[in-house]
Amino acid sequence: MIVAMQDTATEEQIQHVIEHLVRMGFSVHRTTGERQTVLAAVGARIDFDIRNLEVLNGVQQVHRISEPYKLAGRGFRPDGTVIEFSNGLKIGADEVVVMAGPCSVESREQLFTVAELISKAGARVLRGGAFKPRSSPYSFQGMGEQGLKLLREAGDRFNMLVISEVMEISQIPLMLPYVDILQVGARNMQNFNLLRELGKVKKPVLLKRGIAATLEELLLSAEYIMAGGNYDVILCERGIRTFETYTRNTLDISAIPIIKKLSHLPMTSDPSHGTGRRDKVAPMARASVAAGADALLIEVHHDPDKALSDGAQSLFPEQFRTLMDELRMIAPAVHRKIA
Ligand code: PEP
Ligand code: MN
Repeated sequence: MIVAMQDTATEEQIQHVIEHLVRMGFSVHRTTGERQTVLAAVGARIDFDIRNLEVLNGVQQVHRISEPYKLAGRGFRPDGTVIEFSNGLKIGADEVVVMAGPCSVESREQLFTVAELISKAGARVLRGGAFKPRSSPYSFQGMGEQGLKLLREAGDRFNMLVISEVMEISQIPLMLPYVDILQVGARNMQNFNLLRELGKVKKPVLLKRGIAATLEELLLSAEYIMAGGNYDVILCERGIRTFETYTRNTLDISAIPIIKKLSHLPMTSDPSHGTGRRDKVAPMARASVAAGADALLIEVHHDPDKALSDGAQSLFPEQFRTLMDELRMIAPAVHRKIA
């Protein structure tokens, strides 16, 4: 950390800041130029709040140099994390993994119809919500355990892994026998009790960025899971809330290269929730692969007009097939392949 003192700072103020830093456990290196004193504070502590220094008399500016997370940071595993599943599928390696399926599991017929179509088109992971975080308590809330059973059955039948959202701690043991990846939704990104419990689980967790979360907050939430011993965390950009109203959310494509630089964790993009409009999903999926995403999460429905949730952003099967063909052309341009 670098603390720049004001030109007018007195020796007493400088000493006070030095004492404060030493108390925090830093060793302090002082440089006094012609006009200004700069203090370089070196130490292993990461749990400090720079505002405590910014408010001291005589301080002009404080810069944090080390990141506030350590397990989620790129430095922890410079070569990147690759998550390998028992069927050989890898997330975070050369191949981009496409996860697809309906927003919600609605019935056996719906799930099996969609699952067959998307697996033929090349999806490797089947998505589907059994527990749904809906903005309104009157909207469809999901099929619960019955939905999880259907997901497992359809995944096994059509050779896909299964991902589904966990909304609260009590659902974890219920979900573990059925899913391969546990999804933490945007609304739960900072549900720290849930994150801590997921740190004890032996299955990968896909962590979505909150609707108003900074990338540093996303990485700190990943740190909660990793600090509990579960290092298999997959991050996901799913759009943030901005002043734009044309789209449901604004998909922050720049989050992909930024996260790939800051962290070793695989990065996913969800252009369905990221745009909220079917016609915008394919362009943003293509852009996500071009920007370096390790995986995509896409909503597809065989009859989206009748979907119980998120129909407007669900692709028709034919659109999904076309998109997969396009992604197979785009991926090689950025030295990747589609898994
Ligand atoms: C979903 O994947 O269906 C979902 C609810 O996503 P999010 O948490 O990003 O809104
Ligand atoms: Mn959805």
